[in-house]
Amino acid sequence: MQGLNFNVVTDTGPLVILNSAAHNFKIEEVLAVLFGVTSTDFEKLISVQEDHLLTRELDIEKLNRELEAMKSPEIVAWALKEFSPKITMTSSFGPESGVLLHMVSRVDPATPILFLETGYHFPETIEYKKQLTAFLGLTNIVDLRADEADRQQLIEKTGGTPYEVDPDRCCQLNKVEPLDAALGDYEAWMSGIRRHQTDFRKSVRILELYEGGRYKISPLANFTSRDAWWYLKEHKIPQHPLFEKGYLSIGCWPCTRPIQAGDDERSGRWAGKSKKECGIHTFKEIKSKDKEPEDKTGLDDLSANI
Ligand code: SF4
Repeated sequence: MQGLNFNVVTDTGPLVILNSAAHNFKIEEVLAVLFGVTSTDFEKLISVQEDHLLTRELDIEKLNRELEAMKSPEIVAWALKEFSPKITMTSSFGPESGVLLHMVSRVDPATPILFLETGYHFPETIEYKKQLTAFLGLTNIVDLRADEADRQQLIEKTGGTPYEVDPDRCCQLNKVEPLDAALGDYEAWMSGIRRHQTDFRKSVRILELYEGGRYKISPLANFTSRDAWWYLKEHKIPQHPLFEKGYLSIGCWPCTRPIQAGDDERSGRWAGKSKKECGIHTFKEIKSKDKEPEDKTGLDDLSANI
């Protein structure tokens, strides 16, 4: 399959996304055919951005069968070989982040690592990010930020507390939009989400194709938190300083609380609210729909996924 996607922002309308299998065309011609946009209208366009050119179609179902049989470091190595240099990964530099970062660093420490700098991180997270980056020899950390004017506008509109008044918009502005823009440079991205973390995440496939033609790889899909702690210990990877204070999953300080023994590991995120996801794993539709994954996260077999 070949596809060419454009993000089009007009001065009067919202983002328009075109996905066409055609090529050898001018964007003006496609807009005219699909939306009746005239050349005068076209001049009003503020920006036209070529998003991504997908040049390959992968047999996702077959690959997922093979990837499910692999250990996580092998999945990382496969992904980096398959997609480099058009592959990135996201990291929150939280308590479990050292696992995937370590696996990536062992194959290619220059892999671009995207960090969503919301401006609301704990100082301990920023310090840990520096420490872990140096420990693993990572050389390409990219901080992503929201547009500062938009950020200030939301802060003013919400009386200084966007995370309280409108957390969905706060996440959209500070996380989803900067990530969406940055992913335009890549054919694939890796994330450390695990099936054991939440109900929503339990159906994640190791390889998924998202709208817009981008692949997402979740090498730790079969990891339990016990696997993760074992991996960090085994490789002597430094731990986030807040972990010992009861923070098992760490995001922005206004939306993160320590938890008690026996609590769900992500229950400290947006505690007391119905919100469970910031949106970066849900803002695009999954185009590949293959079979539900088997639950391979049995606690008794620590080495199965490592
Ligand atoms: S996690 Fe909280 S502070 Fe961070 S971007 Fe989302 S709502 Fe805002």
